[in-house]
Amino acid sequence: MRVKAYVYRLYPTRKQESTLLWTLRRCKELYNASLEERTAAYKMADVSVSYGMQADQLPQVKQERLEYQEIHSQVQQDVLRRLDKAMRAFFRRVAEGQTPGYPRYKSNTRYRSFTYPQSGYTIIGALTPHDNKGKKTCRLKLSKIGHLKMVMHRPIKGSIKACTIKHDGDQWYAVFSVEQAIHSTPVHPSSKTVGVDVGITSYATLSTGEQIANPRIYRSTEQQIKEAHRKLSRRKRGSHRRNRAKRALTRLYRKVRHRRQDFLHQTSRRLVNQYETLVFEALQIPNMTARPKPKKEEIPITTEGSEGSTTAAAVPHYLPNGAAAKSGLNKSIMDAAWGRFITLCACKAEEAGGMVMKVAPQQTSQVCSGCGVLVPKDLSVRWHSCSTCGAELDRDENAALNVLRRYELQGALPVRKKGKPTRKVGRGGKRPTATGAL
Ligand SMILES: [Zn+2]
Repeated sequence: MRVKAYVYRLYPTRKQESTLLWTLRRCKELYNASLEERTAAYKMADVSVSYGMQADQLPQVKQERLEYQEIHSQVQQDVLRRLDKAMRAFFRRVAEGQTPGYPRYKSNTRYRSFTYPQSGYTIIGALTPHDNKGKKTCRLKLSKIGHLKMVMHRPIKGSIKACTIKHDGDQWYAVFSVEQAIHSTPVHPSSKTVGVDVGITSYATLSTGEQIANPRIYRSTEQQIKEAHRKLSRRKRGSHRRNRAKRALTRLYRKVRHRRQDFLHQTSRRLVNQYETLVFEALQIPNMTARPKPKKEEIPITTEGSEGSTTAAAVPHYLPNGAAAKSGLNKSIMDAAWGRFITLCACKAEEAGGMVMKVAPQQTSQVCSGCGVLVPKDLSVRWHSCSTCGAELDRDENAALNVLRRYELQGALPVRKKGKPTRKVGRGGKRPTATGAL
């Protein structure tokens, strides 16, 4: 079984949109009230409230607050399930010794979707594989809401398990979770293996020497986004013009997001079609994007106890810690979204009969791919030249070759298990065992 999501745009009428918004607000209130109940019960009576206990109260809520009769009951159960998931994640992270934030009360802007987990929705006149048109306008019938116009741009393969209605700024979407049965694993047409090095200068460099340019999507709209933020901050709170400025900003961010996704999907599709096995370094993006620690100036301890003169000097001076440079790099790293890229490659490879492998990331850019000697260089050095074997090549290509070589010599890293089991990628049989780090 494979679970996939199909996303279609909805075009509600004004009246329908206000019903959708109204439903979202009620779901938000239910979420916040349930969170409050859990928190209070725990604080005052040291009782932990479970999903089942809260779900049993729903009929009573409907008696007291009549408006909740206007919302499909499974949608309300799903709200409670979301809270349960957030609480469980919180306690799991506490148990693992991390310091997570307590689940927060949601505001209107933070509560943007509701789900029909089983029933309550029907697609009327759905696009089927036999339709030879690329697009079809159909209706999505939602219980307690109505018949919404929906444009299907591709047919759904598999059986629909749930339907989520999502609000994104001024647009609405329907997301269907679909289960697809896997009948047989296809055989990949190629048997080629390639090492991939991801980076800032070029988005990815293959061990074949091919470079994929970094589109720098956020960077290209950064000026527009900044201008839109400035405009928003000049508008008076609660005014129509402020709302308009807000909508413009959401649109810009959405555009960036969609363009990034488009790039990631197209690039990963191309690589997966071309190569049977893709080898990446195991990335540690949280480390890469962490803020640099503040660097305080050492204050010499003065022996004189005079009060007036020390006040100014006592304030520690902050030395440059490279935050500006790092934040610039962070923006680029976030923009790059390699983690998502690798996940997309893995999902597409699984369906195409290929696989994605990961190797240890240590020193792939420093080691010479020709002879294995260490050639230390910092980030600014873009060229790898080895005095031992005379290898001359691009820094990233050298790294990609090392990634490939490490995989061929030592095999992939074992799939890491963290809390919930990670999805296994690729076919098992061909995987060699890992034999320690380089
Ligand atoms: Zn060398």
